[in-house]
Amino acid sequence: FGSEEQKQRLLPGMLGGELLGAYCLSEPQSGSDAAALRTSAVRSGDTYTVNGTKAWITHGGHADFYSTLVRTGQPGPAGISALLIDAGTPGLSAAPPERKMGMKSSPTAQIHFDGARVPADRLVGEEGQGFSIALSALDSGRLGIAACAVGLAQAALDQAVEYARNRRQFGRPIADFQGLSFMLADMATQVEAGRALYLAAARRRDAGLAFTKQAAMAKLFCTDAAMRVTTDAVQVLGGYGYTQDFPAERYMREAKVLQIVEGTNQIQRMVIGRRLTGGTGR
Ligand SMILES: Cc1cc2nc3c(=O)[nH]c(=O)nc-3n(C[C@H](O)[C@H](O)[C@H](O)COP(=O)(O)OP(=O)(O)OC[C@H]3O[C@@H](n4cnc5c(N)ncnc54)[C@H](O)[C@@H]3O)c2cc1C
Repeated sequence: FGSEEQKQRLLPGMLGGELLGAYCLSEPQSGSDAAALRTSAVRSGDTYTVNGTKAWITHGGHADFYSTLVRTGQPGPAGISALLIDAGTPGLSAAPPERKMGMKSSPTAQIHFDGARVPADRLVGEEGQGFSIALSALDSGRLGIAACAVGLAQAALDQAVEYARNRRQFGRPIADFQGLSFMLADMATQVEAGRALYLAAARRRDAGLAFTKQAAMAKLFCTDAAMRVTTDAVQVLGGYGYTQDFPAERYMREAKVLQIVEGTNQIQRMVIGRRLTGGTGR
């Protein structure tokens, strides 16, 4: 959606790993109902003045620039626009990072805009196009989250299988007990099904086909599967699974956030349902 000048200015640095971006949609009072966002951008001449607070921003306080969804017009999705705001803009500040259950190496923070003045050429696309830009970014992001979830579940499964082969109870490896090997079989089936589902959705994207519904299905299925598989991995390790001596407990904590970010799994069901029935979902 960006202009040629915007692409030239940002993409080489981003692809080269020298520039870090952030995506600012959520606000303290508007999460799932993202179209209710309030951060305002008022244009005067060649400048927008931005006021408001964004919440839960990944890379908050570390990013070089913030892709920020702002209200430039009427209430609802049609009044939303997208601005690229440099981190050094006077009036932009980051709150201290959130103290999270997991994903601790990925900083998450509120970003405050207090009279931040942004040149009008930082507008992405047209005024009022911001919400469809935001949603299109989420479609692709959901594929990434689904892939993360499958990788996480695979790691948990690998650890559970290795542990079950080596841990002995009642004189033999616990993997020999049907109750346990059936759990491992179910876990492996979830991982394979998830991988096939998100790759099928990604292939639709690569082929230029509509993939909103498939991306939502992949995000929903893979992240729910990761939650189940990582929880079962802790179970396979017994008491040791509940300690920080093994990574299983961390995998379980990391899985939880994947059911929440990039649209919660309740919202994925709304997206899928809307595609099935043609409803507005609002
Ligand atoms: C670690 C982390 C990183 C994040 N990174 C970013 C980021 O970089 N940029 C960004 O913009 N946001 C980011 N987010 C925010 C994330 O997208 C929101 O947390 C998410 O969209 C949910 O919003 P909320 O937390 O306000 O929950 P709410 O919207 O208040 O939802 C609370 C509960 O109500 C349910 N719910 C809400 N509406 C409905 C409905 N209509 N039907 C059924 N159930 C419903 C939800 O599913 C959820 O279970 C991040 C969040 C986390 C935790």
